[in-house]
Amino acid sequence: MSSMVIPVDPFDLVIFGGTGDLAMRKLLPALFRRDADGQIPATARILGLARTDQDTESFKAEARAALHKHVAVDELDSIALERFIERLSYLHIDVTDARAWGELVSYLNERPEHIRVYYLAVGPALFGPIAQGLAQVGLATTKARLVVEKPLGHDLASAMTLNRELSSVFNEKSIYRIDHYLGKETVQNLMALRFANALFEPLWNANRIDHVQITASESLGVGTRGSYYDTAGAIRDMVQNHLVQLLCLLAMEPPYKFDADALRDEKLKVLRSLRPITGRNVLTNTVRGQYLAHGPDAPSYLQEVGNPDSKTESYVAIKAEIDNWRWSGVPFYLRTGKKLRAQMTEIAVVFKEPAHSVFGDLETPSMPNVLSIRLQPDEGLQLVIMTKDPGPGGFRLRAIPLDMTFAEGRGSNWRMPDAYERLLMDVVRGNQTLFMRGDEVEAAWRWIDPIIEAWEASGLRPEGYDPGSRGPIAAVEMMARDGRRWREIEV
Ligand code: NAD
Repeated sequence: MSSMVIPVDPFDLVIFGGTGDLAMRKLLPALFRRDADGQIPATARILGLARTDQDTESFKAEARAALHKHVAVDELDSIALERFIERLSYLHIDVTDARAWGELVSYLNERPEHIRVYYLAVGPALFGPIAQGLAQVGLATTKARLVVEKPLGHDLASAMTLNRELSSVFNEKSIYRIDHYLGKETVQNLMALRFANALFEPLWNANRIDHVQITASESLGVGTRGSYYDTAGAIRDMVQNHLVQLLCLLAMEPPYKFDADALRDEKLKVLRSLRPITGRNVLTNTVRGQYLAHGPDAPSYLQEVGNPDSKTESYVAIKAEIDNWRWSGVPFYLRTGKKLRAQMTEIAVVFKEPAHSVFGDLETPSMPNVLSIRLQPDEGLQLVIMTKDPGPGGFRLRAIPLDMTFAEGRGSNWRMPDAYERLLMDVVRGNQTLFMRGDEVEAAWRWIDPIIEAWEASGLRPEGYDPGSRGPIAAVEMMARDGRRWREIEV
């Protein structure tokens, strides 16, 4: 599949929560694909660890079923599948039971030379206890890496507590905080686009850019995640991590080199430059929504979470402003929501109109250039430019997209790698560039917390919106007040 595959060093990867949804749906398929591609060395092992009472054989059967479900048939080469399954083992351990860790120690000590990766695919309440458990049995070694994923705290205070718990055992250089958006090819391409081309960087500032829109729109509701989601809402579940991370990559200054800390230093500066949204400003700079019911088969948000009084938002739009030289006066509009028109994630950089229109009053007026960076469903870049509509008649302008859908450029056999493939191999390689540092997570909460506090102080409820729509009317009005419009939510 890939053009060049460099095998990583031998490793043992322990998935705490190995029987869970994340492990079965994302981690094992990603590891299988890297293995099938020849990137995983022969001696590497994968250990599922969970409190489900079963043995290695039934774990292997479960993993095999998950791979058949989540990996396309033409990728499931039988030799590669058997080789991968043979790497798997299982340990039935309740991590809260201190006596149970001995078997894990014996298993890992069989290969002391291996890099050790501990992937915490369990609820966040277990992150601290697992880190402590690893330290107590001597498994928090210098070759070990700890991987954690959202939710990384519920607010600034809990994020700081979590960081303290993890860093009391592991060095920051051994902690890998995953935001899988950062593993997407398009997001990495955003950095290539900005820093490997001379074309865009001179335009990448308030002189040439009118505004930016970042949209993560989902077509499904909260489904079975209702009880968790109602304690979080769209701002904690999507904005604090994914959308803010995209904003940082888009807005940061060029790092002095493509190195984990150099890049993360620049992202941190953006986070610190975000203008606080406090008090009554939340009424003008943010919009919250909750999806309504649509007939008996499509319950409302409140019905799905079983809490008629909930004020948790299933939609949020925020006008963010960055108080620095480069971005002064350029709004970054963020929006995300459930049960919207379509499933799509996109960054759109909307450039300013030409200073003067030499074409006068045409029937088809000029439109601003837009660079759209699409993460979902089809990863790719598109630059809309104005051209003359061909033909001998009058002079009409036409907006033409220069399309760079990545899959098309790579031939029909090419498959877009899943973000977890890249990120898991980066953990083994010890490359933290695409992972969040503890101070970044805290800085993001420092911006988010006052918004949530101001919502709570206002006592207002989120506005209802129809499922399958573009979201609450108030979000359209927020844009209209600035003389702008949201981009269409479509695939
Ligand atoms: P899940 O409920 O499906 O799985 C949880 C796993 O943890 C199970 O294997 C369970 O046996 C194990 N477990 C629970 N308590 C344990 C204990 N005391 N000792 C040992 N094992 C224990 O959850 P999930 O959806 O896989 O999510 C896991 C974590 O990853 C959560 O924090 C979630 O927020 C996060 N996450 C999940 C996804 C996803 O796509 N599922 C995406 C991003 C983040």
